[in-house]
Amino acid sequence: MVAVLAGGTGGAKLARGMLDVVGGEELAVIANTADDVEVYGAHVSPDPDLIAYALADVLDERGYGIAGDTWAVMDALAAAGRDTWFRLGDRDLALCLLRTELLRDRARLTEAHARVVAGLGLRARVLPMADEPVRTHVHANGRRRPFQEFMIVDGATGPVEGVELRGVEAARPTPEVLEALTTAEAIVVGPSNPVISIGPILAVSGMRDAVAAARAPVVAVSPFVGGRAVKGPTEAFCAQAGIALSAQGIADAYGDVIDGLVADEPVAGTPALELDTLMDSPAARERVARATLEFARSLAPR
Ligand code: GDP
Repeated sequence: MVAVLAGGTGGAKLARGMLDVVGGEELAVIANTADDVEVYGAHVSPDPDLIAYALADVLDERGYGIAGDTWAVMDALAAAGRDTWFRLGDRDLALCLLRTELLRDRARLTEAHARVVAGLGLRARVLPMADEPVRTHVHANGRRRPFQEFMIVDGATGPVEGVELRGVEAARPTPEVLEALTTAEAIVVGPSNPVISIGPILAVSGMRDAVAAARAPVVAVSPFVGGRAVKGPTEAFCAQAGIALSAQGIADAYGDVIDGLVADEPVAGTPALELDTLMDSPAARERVARATLEFARSLAPR
């Protein structure tokens, strides 16, 4: 069993590679839910969905949503005068509605998302970090914005001045997350944004302790390739959080959470595997996942 902590882009790519290496039965992905949003009456879970779509090989090339999706609902809403800044394809929305319906029937987020994952025919688990709501708010340009509005409406512009993880104190790792951490042979922190993807997961009350208590070695894969983020607003968030755009920056950011680091440059003070971590093809994803798992296995159990 391998547990991968992930946001939506880099973490999802590594998770997809790990699926090739260990198979769905042996994979649990612990996903950030602090980007979740209620829109058009649906509960949208961008990171867990992106991970599930990546694992099911239906992720669209643009990096979110379902490949070949249609836009009839968005077109109809726009024609009726509804602002459609948050674009959800028809099939994507259908799966969000499936989750929303279960949540209205008092299912936990974990159960509701499991239905989406099963609906995609997956055997791997994609586990929300917590069932309680956590919502990232971003301070930038002198104001505070919910995360999706900052990203989509504001175009993620302006230096980030601060990040709030609303609700995180009341959130707890779910029984499913605790079980995945306890039974894992290796725990992999994916190459995701350390501030707004991995940050919320580790900030859930009790999560750091649960990771520390696990017997499995914990290794992180750096999201920086050649000293830059591959995609997205990671650099701006790291600048605000004082995290250097380097392997050392990631090692310092995760501190004693990790036993080892996989990165494309050397790092001092932490066991490290130096490796090209760019996952620009299915073969590259699998190569990085396999090497990361072998590296984790090479570290002594705790
Ligand atoms: P988000 O929720 O969509 O922001 O996704 P994540 O937090 O999971 O991923 C964002 C991070 O993924 C960025 O910091 C990128 O540098 C990193 N990333 C994307 N593709 C790759 C890749 O191929 N290799 C590595 N090492 N990192 C990547």
